[in-house]
Order: sequence, then C-alpha cells, then structure tokens
Amino acid sequence: MENFGGKKECAYEKENGVGNGGGVEIKKKWCFKANESISAASGITIRGTLGMLMGSRNSNDKRETIPLGHGDPSAFPCFRTSLIAEDAIVESLRSSKFNSYSPSVGLQPARSAVAEYLSCDLPYKLSAEDVFLTVGCIQSIEIVLSVLARPGANILLPRPGFPIYESRATFSNLEIRHFDLLPEKGWEVDLDAVKSLADENTVAMVMINPGNPCGNVLSYVHLKKMAETAKMLGILIIADEVYGHLTFGSNSFIPMGTFGSIAPVLTMGSISKRWLVPGWRLGWITVNDPNGYLKDAKIVDSIIGYANITTDPATFIQAAVPKILKETPEDFFENTRSILRESAEIIYDELDEIDCIYCPHKPDGSMFVMVKIDTSLLEDIIDDIDFCTKLAKEESVIVLPGICVGLKNWLRITFAIEPSRLQDGLRRMKDFCQRHAKKL
Ligand SMILES: *Cc1c(COP(=O)(O)O)cnc(C)c1O
Repeated sequence: MENFGGKKECAYEKENGVGNGGGVEIKKKWCFKANESISAASGITIRGTLGMLMGSRNSNDKRETIPLGHGDPSAFPCFRTSLIAEDAIVESLRSSKFNSYSPSVGLQPARSAVAEYLSCDLPYKLSAEDVFLTVGCIQSIEIVLSVLARPGANILLPRPGFPIYESRATFSNLEIRHFDLLPEKGWEVDLDAVKSLADENTVAMVMINPGNPCGNVLSYVHLKKMAETAKMLGILIIADEVYGHLTFGSNSFIPMGTFGSIAPVLTMGSISKRWLVPGWRLGWITVNDPNGYLKDAKIVDSIIGYANITTDPATFIQAAVPKILKETPEDFFENTRSILRESAEIIYDELDEIDCIYCPHKPDGSMFVMVKIDTSLLEDIIDDIDFCTKLAKEESVIVLPGICVGLKNWLRITFAIEPSRLQDGLRRMKDFCQRHAKKL
C-alpha cells in the first residue's frame, strides 16, 4: 500500500480475510467528516419549523391553508412589486451590458444610488465608498459578523430576535449575550441589561428597526439613548433596517445612522421587503461613521477583504438599482403601507377577543406581531410548539412558535397577507382556542 509520506495513512486500514480466501485485503477508510459547527449553528430554524408545521396539517381538511408564519408576502397578488422595478430589471437584462462579473464591492452607479437614497434621511451625506452591495441582507449579516469575529469577542443580540444572527455568530465562534426587548415599553431595548452584559471584549450590539419579530418602530429619543449607551461601552451598533420605511403607525422610521456621529453604525438593508422582491437578492452594508472610527479599526478594509472572497449579487440586478431606488412611485409604497395598516388593525382587534392570547403592543411597522399565549387557560396545550402543531393540524393555520425567535410560549404572527384571508385565519385561531379552553 502506498504511504503518502506517512501523512495519508488514515485513509486505509487493513482487514483480515474478508471474502478474499483468507488473504489480506486493503479496505478504504475515508478521512472526510462534516464540519460540526454547521449543525451547531443551524439548530432550530424558522424554515425548518415552518416545514414541520406544514407537514402536520391534516390532508383531509379541504379548506385552504392560511400561512401566517412566513416572512415573504410576494406570493400574494396584493403584494406585487412595482412595475418600475420590473421594467428596471428587464431593461438592464436586455441591454446586454451586464453579463460580466461586477466589482466585488458592487457596481459604482448602484453604490452611488444607495448612498443617495439613504442620505435623504441622514444629517450627513454618505458616499458610494460607504456602500457595499450584498446578496440580500442575509449576506450583509454574514459579512458583518464574520468581520467582527476575532477570537474572544462577544456580541449583544436582542431577545426576541432574528435567529440568523445566533446561527452566524455561533458559526463564527462569536460569543452571544442576549439582552431583552421590553414588551410593556413597546419592545424598547433594555439598556440597563446592555450595560451590564458588556465587557471589554464586547464588539457590537444588534438592533432590528422596524422590528422583526415585534412589529415595533423605535422613537428618536430611544435610538439616541442607544447610541449614547454604545458610545459609553465603546461598541458599534449593527442596525438591521431591512424593514426601513415599512411603517404605518405614529412613529415614523428614523435610521440609526442619524446618530452615527455619537457611535459608529453599520447599517444593513435590502430591496427585499420594501419592494417585496426577496428573491432578487440585493442588499447592502453602509458605513455610517462620520468620525471614521470603523476605518481606523480596519473594519472597512475587512469588509472589502471579505467581499473579495465571497460572491456578489447578480450584475444585471445591481445595474437596475438606480432606477428602482429613484423612480419607484410613492403610491406603490403607500399602497403596501395601507394594506399592512389595515391588516395590523384586524389582527390587533381580533386577537383581543381571544382570552388565552395577549398582545402587548399593536404593530406599527414591519409585518409581524408577537403575542403571548397563556397555556394555563388551555386544556391540553403544553407550550408554543404544541399550540402551533395542533393549530396546523386542526385548522390548517400556520404560525411561528415564539421559541424560534427566543421567547417560549409566545407566537410570531405575520399579517402580510390579504386582509380577507387574515380574517379567516384569525377566526380559525379563535375557534381553536375556544375548543381547547379549560372548562371552568
Ligand atoms: C428578511 C430579513 C432579513 C433578510 O433579508 P434579505 O434581504 O431577504 O436577505 C434580514 N433581517 C431581518 C430582520 C429580516 O426580517
């Protein structure tokens, strides 16, 4: 047997006499094995749980399934993207000018357009060099957490939150520390908890505004306090603003970058939610740091370095970005907001009629609401997973168990669905809760 300088010997082992007339046979033993940090990082996922719930439905139920668990409304006809955005893609494709690779940080005109789009809401101007294009906000999260994950570092994440952060941090060996969002305060950040969790190895805190999963929109005053807390702790803020401008209540959307001169902010966004095209995979990271601290810390260089070793959004999609951002008519956004506003009203009013469900905050942004279930009022429901599994089975209604976003015995309900189907789903939920209520 060949011995590759002694190093490869693990690939073979000797075995005696198997079907070879008692002779010695060489049997191959493979060296490969999966990287265990992937299974560690992908424990409970939203997709996996929703798939399990879809599988729990009763195939004899002839009613249509009401999906209130997903985060992608683009399948519903009332949430079709703007014609301008579709035209922009067609023109870009048809020009045949964008069949090549793009620069790893993105096409210059697209970076400029994002800078201009975001600068409208900021007290200073971003330049194209502050913008890095990504394959959706998911890749922005991957890049930012990878860049920050030096050995020994820890990161502060919200609870409830968006579980991709936990997965990516775990995968990159970034230690996770959770701070709570406070339901009785409109899901504001518990800043005292942030202060007590942070130490000299804390690099950043993550915030999602407008909120997933809570559907809240943070106020100017609270955002400023967050920036001041980050400054005091010497950490940066990672602002997930993928739902930016998707607001329909009294608080309007204020980007965290507004306070970039107090503490540095890496803002992440995409066209997925506001333009209702998550499948187009176009997002960004912007450096909101007028003082240049992130540059000094080589974080900007590392983002560029990471961009060089990963993939880019499709070039013809990037090329469509200037038109998409500049020409989408305001009435397209207003239409989306008004459907979401109506759905938020419906869900808040209908849930109020269900005894075992408590909604601490009427949603005023994004497309989700978090509600608590009081299992003590229910006969045979032990927890949120049990609730959601039985609801899928008995009523063909899909909602996400809160445990998937960090809060056991809560539910995350999506209301980005046609209002009539939402009403149908909520009626079925009410029937379900009445049927399972403890008899007094
Ligand atoms: C949907 C979502 C993302 C991912 O956005 P893409 O642009 O589709 O990759 C990131 N963060 C939050 C909070 C989301 O809800």
